[in-house]
Amino acid sequence: MSLPAESIHNFHQLLHTWYGKYGRHNLPWRNTRDPYAIYISEIMLQQTQVKTVLERYYFQFLERFPTMEKLAKSPSEQVLQAWQGLGYYNRALNLHNAAKSCRTTLPDNVEALMSLPGIGRNTAHAVAAFAYRRPVAIMEANVRRVLSRIFTLPSATDQELWDKAELLLNKREPFDYNQAMMDIGAMVCTKRNPRCGECPAQAICKGQKSPDCYPAAKQKKSIPVRAKNIIVACNKNGEYYATPRTSRFLGGLYHFLEIPQEEKSVTLCKKAYMLDTTARNLGSIRQQYSHFTLEADVWLLDTTATSGAYWHSLSKLKKLPCSMAETKILGLIEAKKTAKQILYKQK
Ligand code: SF4
Repeated sequence: MSLPAESIHNFHQLLHTWYGKYGRHNLPWRNTRDPYAIYISEIMLQQTQVKTVLERYYFQFLERFPTMEKLAKSPSEQVLQAWQGLGYYNRALNLHNAAKSCRTTLPDNVEALMSLPGIGRNTAHAVAAFAYRRPVAIMEANVRRVLSRIFTLPSATDQELWDKAELLLNKREPFDYNQAMMDIGAMVCTKRNPRCGECPAQAICKGQKSPDCYPAAKQKKSIPVRAKNIIVACNKNGEYYATPRTSRFLGGLYHFLEIPQEEKSVTLCKKAYMLDTTARNLGSIRQQYSHFTLEADVWLLDTTATSGAYWHSLSKLKKLPCSMAETKILGLIEAKKTAKQILYKQK
């Protein structure tokens, strides 16, 4: 479906007026031209709600790493620690790597932005449009829904949506236009019960009679459960063994030893890691990730090991970057005070 130029022009005017009245102008990343701050907000907002980013991460991160240069020079452990709780930790590592390759500031064009680690088309367009006022469209979840409804696209491909986004774009005002499209999606053209009567796209929207059909609902994938035993090894000095993960998933974050529960017995765990004393159950944890749910029994093993590179006191462990699962385990350890106290109580 194409739209006459006049309809698009009228839409731009209505959208502009609507945004002036109702837009979320007070979001801090809309009140800066600093490409670095805008970039940080874009990466954080990829998988996290505005409220969470605003309340717990955006200002704190910028206070700790106020410039790209400062971020580039900081150790990755510090970056991961500042990211703790936001999830999708690859975003933090990519952010850090991008800072290291730019050093002082981000490039001002889409192609150069997209050559940086972790910057895809949408992030590149967002930084280009918001920081440098380049005439490019953006494409996040809210915008996808609005476009799918305006153009009655139940299951559009990425390219189809980008084509529609470029068709509608107000090239003279890319900043206001793009922010307004996101706001319509967040505030008016909501997933359920869109308020078409208040929408500035009403005159051009073909999907308003049955907005729930666009985009078509996806079949929910069932999320598998991964059952594990997690071993908290404690040495003679009351230190715990934890190493940084080398995998892509949660890479760089510290974790305890993990063993799939098919190997059920903790005796086997002990054998595998040559741990030499009685195992005590600390409790269990459950952690939901995007592609699986972790259900783990947590075991404390008192060992005769001495201090070494990956043995940490509880207070040091709490300062290292850890995922939510490890944070829960630290809570279990803390609740019992120390590993040794638990052993004494049970004897
Ligand atoms: S008219 Fe209704 S369905 Fe169409 S974009 Fe606006 S709120 Fe969404």
